[in-house]
Amino acid sequence: MKIGIVGSGMVGATAAYAMVMRGIGREIVLVDKNQKRALAESEDIVHAVPFADPLIIRAGQYSDLQGSRLVIICAGVSQKEGESRLDLLGRNAAVFKEIVPGILEYVPEGLLVVATNPVDIMTYLAAHYASGSGLPKTKIIGSGTTLDTARFRALLGERIGVDPQHVHAYVIGEHGDSEVLSWSSARVGAATLDDFCAQHNVCLDGKAKKGIDDRVRHAAYAIIEGKGATYYGIGSALAKIVDVVLHDQRSILTVSTPADEVAGVKDVCVSLPRLVGGDGVLATFPLPLDEREEATLRESAQVVRKAIDELMDML
Ligand code: NAD
Repeated sequence: MKIGIVGSGMVGATAAYAMVMRGIGREIVLVDKNQKRALAESEDIVHAVPFADPLIIRAGQYSDLQGSRLVIICAGVSQKEGESRLDLLGRNAAVFKEIVPGILEYVPEGLLVVATNPVDIMTYLAAHYASGSGLPKTKIIGSGTTLDTARFRALLGERIGVDPQHVHAYVIGEHGDSEVLSWSSARVGAATLDDFCAQHNVCLDGKAKKGIDDRVRHAAYAIIEGKGATYYGIGSALAKIVDVVLHDQRSILTVSTPADEVAGVKDVCVSLPRLVGGDGVLATFPLPLDEREEATLRESAQVVRKAIDELMDML
């Protein structure tokens, strides 16, 4: 199966590499306005193929995307040190106006997976530029808080001494400063987090929770300060989303997609646990949140909605 990637910088190329190493798909096409970069990345990754699964990877134009099952969008400018994701908005909006119709001309029935930041707003914008094309909104998926949820589970699992795959905890809302770590709905196996900690004498007090919250919420800032960009985590998250779609795995992922209403906020894109399969987003599962989390989810959705309003006024 063919997968397109538009924007083959650090995130796009790392997603391609992650797919090659995991044997996801059979052909990957890299498209970038910097064609030299797309070619160089594809040639570099080709040299990893003999150590992984057989797969064709090449650079191309929009027309080469024809026949793709889905296209990942990672084109844009990346977050600079100290810059919030919302600051990126204006710079990346213009890029999408060109890219989304460019993709849909050749892949009218495929799925779009958006990674460009601020990802919730860019997902909304992708749906805006796709409207009228016949592509259902459920086939427009933002990576959202998929990565943040993985970070939350990894840190929580490390703290309580359990494989993160058996820690069911979710980060919802905006992929950004206002995101919500839902502690009240977290489960370890079938036990609530509080019950698990009580039964196993694990101390997870307010200070420990705040430490984990800080490390999840500010992970990107810390990594960007150290090395200028984040790409391994998101590259792996994108490979996972592609795998789920290609094999109709019906996984529950915290992706972002246009929704009529979230926590009382209308017409917005934020992450919630969603069932994802071959046709995109199949269902959304509201989390049983406590009062404080419900209020912070509403605030988070309002942050995104406000930015969408500002953006729509600019267009
Ligand atoms: P990068 O600068 O390395 O790559 C961006 C690429 O986009 C460049 O190669 C550039 O030439 C290309 N591009 C720009 N305009 C284009 C256009 N009109 N058509 C085609 N290609 C175009 O940046 P990066 O580190 O790969 O980050 C890419 C995006 O992903 C950024 O917006 C970044 O903030 C975002 N990101 C998202 C997450 C997430 O969790 N969703 C995580 C990390 C980064």
